Amino acid sequence: MLKFVTFAVKTQLNVHDLNNEAVAGNVTDIRIMEFLNENGERQEAPAVSGRMLKHWHYEGMRHLIVNGTYSSVQLCAGCKVGEPIRPGTINNGNLSQDPGISEADAIKNCAVCDSHGYLIAKPEATAGEGGVSARRTSRAMFSWLMPVLEIDTTSKQVIHNRVSLDPKTMMPFNKSYASGIYAFVSALDVDRVGLVEINLGGTNPFAVNDNDRKARIKVAIEAYRFMLSGQIGASLSHAVPHGNPIEILVAYSETGPLPFPVSPMYSDYISKTAGLMPQNTPLLYWGDATPAGVTKKNVIDDIFKELLNKVG
Ligand SMILES: [Zn+2]
Repeated sequence: MLKFVTFAVKTQLNVHDLNNEAVAGNVTDIRIMEFLNENGERQEAPAVSGRMLKHWHYEGMRHLIVNGTYSSVQLCAGCKVGEPIRPGTINNGNLSQDPGISEADAIKNCAVCDSHGYLIAKPEATAGEGGVSARRTSRAMFSWLMPVLEIDTTSKQVIHNRVSLDPKTMMPFNKSYASGIYAFVSALDVDRVGLVEINLGGTNPFAVNDNDRKARIKVAIEAYRFMLSGQIGASLSHAVPHGNPIEILVAYSETGPLPFPVSPMYSDYISKTAGLMPQNTPLLYWGDATPAGVTKKNVIDDIFKELLNKVG
């Protein structure tokens, strides 16, 4: 049974607007991050936050659950409608966070609250709770999406016009679009899906039965497929990136946790990842290279098939 899986992804994304959140005047500019290249020199380039990637992993799960493929998987009221109120509940027709719910009940009710975690901030005024916050740590972890080093990433501004029949209300606005080759890493702590840590040591620390756990793990793995296609950020209504996956390296374990892989941002990430992982860790690779120590797959789906088979 699968216990832990890591992803290292290198993908080309042309003309995207995935993290358009820095605003100056009527210019909505793409987010720029500073980083060091392999020579230790400071550089700047467009980047997409890990929070954004995590959000789009959730959106992938939500679509797979709400739209039928995994319709038996539970979602709370907030996660079902795309509101980030975790754990969500409906009271008198109003959606809100459920501050009194136990961790076991929260994760029983919802695959996303379970795998992505949540924070219930309790103000001191909350009767009897003493202001202690309740939180569940995420089982899914994401890096920022960063440019692959030594390859130029460009961004360009384009002037759009909000079209209107009345010329006076036409409103030109500038937006930036970026193109480049990007990398991200992610880890999914499969073994802790459905697990309530404070119940460890008891007869059964899992709040979710075995079949439901497996379905949740599968939907969390399947959601990465959408991310590989470029569903990882803003402006998808009018700027779906021209995505082109280049390399994918997956490590998994059936015995325990794994370290994070070395980022495909760096040129020698495959050999370094292989050297970092514990001995006999299965490494699945899709891409043009023929690296040593990894199992090469012909199509990306072969990687997903192997992972899903290990869930059982
Ligand atoms: Zn939820």
